[in-house]
Amino acid sequence: REALTAGHLVSVFSSDQRRRLARSRAIEDGLWESRGGAGMALVYQPKVDILSGQVTGVEALMRWHHPELGTVSPAEFVPVAERTRTIIPLGEWIIRETLNQQAEWRRKGLDLSVGINVSPAQLAAGAGGTPVMDILTDECDRLDLDRSMVELEITESLLPDRAAMDEVRTLADAGFHIVIDDFGRDHAALSLLAESPARTLKIDKGFVDNVVRNDRQVAIIRFITELAHGLGMRTVVEGIEDIRQLVAVAGCGCDVAQGYFYYRPMCGDRILGLKADA
Ligand code: C2E
Ligand code: MG
Ligand code: MG
Ligand code: MG
Repeated sequence: REALTAGHLVSVFSSDQRRRLARSRAIEDGLWESRGGAGMALVYQPKVDILSGQVTGVEALMRWHHPELGTVSPAEFVPVAERTRTIIPLGEWIIRETLNQQAEWRRKGLDLSVGINVSPAQLAAGAGGTPVMDILTDECDRLDLDRSMVELEITESLLPDRAAMDEVRTLADAGFHIVIDDFGRDHAALSLLAESPARTLKIDKGFVDNVVRNDRQVAIIRFITELAHGLGMRTVVEGIEDIRQLVAVAGCGCDVAQGYFYYRPMCGDRILGLKADA
């Protein structure tokens, strides 16, 4: 029998699998090249207070132009960046870039809170690189920013991770505002929520999608909102795309909304155009 060669191995993959493999390889390589922010950009999506209609803050979202693949969605590349830990240098760039943008808006008369997505890999013990805490405190001190206006969005899946939550608690004690993102997607225990230092709960878009046709989704959103308020937390609903969804979640008592109905994510300069609304 012939020895199994690399050529044989390659031939057992279908052409579809080969294409996927080549793409994920190109993403990994590209992320390494872009780990310092090259080819990356941040866009900002406003969050709106439902009752007053005022913009209270923005969430920073990454955009990436890959040299060969073109635009790649964060839904595709963030999990790769987490697995390969490129998210650690990239995450540092995101924090510095966002806080500098926040300071620039303030110099131009627009005082907004900023939401930064922080991935579990950035909080893991021995993550390497500069600790998130040091990056945040350095930049806030240097730029004279109010730490409570810096919202760190961590996902619900982090709640059961004791070591990471200790780090989150340290960040909360230092004055940063903790937000739990995508709440309801991962079925974290409610007791973990009660113990967490988070001040805001972001209700997953999944509940909003069918809220107009499905009374059960309304019941869940109302329940989460009452729970959050009972724990002294504010709620944000994400993914509001039309007025009927907005009316439904407003009826549930949600405080803040984010979604295409109000604004799509936009570049930092365009945020200045919101000055009249804010
Ligand atoms: P996320 O943090 O839950 O962000 C919300 C996502 O929903 C964003 O997608 C946003 O553009 C999208 N969105 C907002 N309003 C609507 C709407 O009305 N309808 C619909 N269909 N979508 C809406 P995006 O920018 O593609 O980001 C996807 C995910 O990638 C984020 O989910 C977050 O988990 C991750 N991500 C994005 N930027 C960063 C970052 O800077 N750092 C880290 N660690 N993760 C990031
Ligand atoms: Mg988020
Ligand atoms: Mg979310
Ligand atoms: Mg998310």
